[in-house]
Amino acid sequence: MDHPRAGTHYPRSLGEFQAWFRTDADCLDYLEWLRWPAGFACPGCGHKGGWRLGDGRFMCSGCSGRTSVTAGTIFDRTRTPLTVWLTACWLFATSKAGISALSLKRTLEVGSYQTAWAMLHRVRSLLVRPGRDRLAGMVEVDETYIGGEERGLLGGRARGKKVLTGIAVEVREPKGLGRCRMAPLADAAAASLHPFVTDHVEPGARVITDGWQGYRGLEKLGYVHDRRSQRAARARGEDPAELLPAVHRVASLAKRWLLGTHQGSVGDAHLASYLNEFVFRFNRRRSRNRGMLFYRVLELAVAHDPVRYQDIIASQRPRAVPPGPPQAHGHPPSLERPPANRPWRTADLGSSG
Ligand SMILES: [Zn+2]
Repeated sequence: MDHPRAGTHYPRSLGEFQAWFRTDADCLDYLEWLRWPAGFACPGCGHKGGWRLGDGRFMCSGCSGRTSVTAGTIFDRTRTPLTVWLTACWLFATSKAGISALSLKRTLEVGSYQTAWAMLHRVRSLLVRPGRDRLAGMVEVDETYIGGEERGLLGGRARGKKVLTGIAVEVREPKGLGRCRMAPLADAAAASLHPFVTDHVEPGARVITDGWQGYRGLEKLGYVHDRRSQRAARARGEDPAELLPAVHRVASLAKRWLLGTHQGSVGDAHLASYLNEFVFRFNRRRSRNRGMLFYRVLELAVAHDPVRYQDIIASQRPRAVPPGPPQAHGHPPSLERPPANRPWRTADLGSSG
């Protein structure tokens, strides 16, 4: 939906959120409405129309395939109640600085740190959409080291290392910052820096970098390249560290966010997904309607492929004692309460009549 309305399509406040999503059935109906706003469409054959089965699943009237609302989404085969999931998504979206796995575990009384950690990683995995707009106009690009340790799944601290990270930030005139992008880099060679620029910056943009040779050749890729030499700045009596003020501002905000919200406990294997979360928050920092972000997160969630626990931990380096599956630690209790009306449904009936 292009223009979802507060109070109808997403909650305006925590109170409204709690009134809307009292039971897992409420949550499931909301996800169904988000996934199939015009009614059931078969994910197998694309046929529109089918039957609701007694167990809550749908049967396609075209191919007779059976599916559920959560099948093929990040909630696929989840053992965590949907009330807990949606509350986690609400906290993730509406808290300006985000939420750590530890505080999610405490807030929702999720059974284990591991379960909370995996939930947040699933939500984080939604935040990159292929084909999203690249940065345009005037864009500062630089690379810096970010990251450190991650609290280990088994309670200890996993050794992490700092990761070379590319940063691109739109610069507005006369002053101010636009959107940003961040991604880990293999190294600072042209073979790593050029793809970072082409992935994140629209051709034709004015790209501002320091004098590093790895940025040579950007003109051939269709950019206007503005190289600022540290040596020349020093000769003018200027601080060479201030050559690219926008990227340095964003880098320090990102480092402070990792230390503040996540206590710096971010391993190099997962840094990319934390950077995605930071970029998501930074690019929506002026959004006054946090409930809208909740709507966007769930909209991405129902359109997303399932994320298996194994996929999340697969990027970690092997351990002597592999972490057990989440169910070994028990499930969080559901947050169900008595059912309420469903504003998203009544609004649809009203507008179609
Ligand atoms: Zn079908």
